[in-house]
Amino acid sequence: MNAMEPSLARPLAAPYTDGLREGLLRYQQCSACGGAQTLARYACQHCGQRTAMPWRDAAGTATVCAVTEVARAPSDEFRALAPYTLVIVQLDEGPRLMAHAAAGVQIGQRVRASFFEHHGRTLVRFEPLT
Ligand SMILES: [Zn+2]
Repeated sequence: MNAMEPSLARPLAAPYTDGLREGLLRYQQCSACGGAQTLARYACQHCGQRTAMPWRDAAGTATVCAVTEVARAPSDEFRALAPYTLVIVQLDEGPRLMAHAAAGVQIGQRVRASFFEHHGRTLVRFEPLT
């Protein structure tokens, strides 16, 4: 069995969360159609095949698609961070991802992923590419 295949003992998204701890963004790429997706799924969101969705390492560079400022955190866990910026970015490899971002980023801006620890989890924050 391939170590990247999901199993009952290993969550489907484990390659993604393990990657974050190593400073890597990972995405699934369909072995049938080549479609890429960032949320871990058992099937390809483009063609529906279910047999092989291997994980790839992304370069970490992306373009901002949407920006929002969060003034009121949704939970105690995030209250210490507020106000903070959330973005949807399109990775250079194609798939989109929601993450934190440096304050002041703009739609269309080029950014690069960085990582930070918060309440025992590794979260992604995009910083402007200089
Ligand atoms: Zn596919």
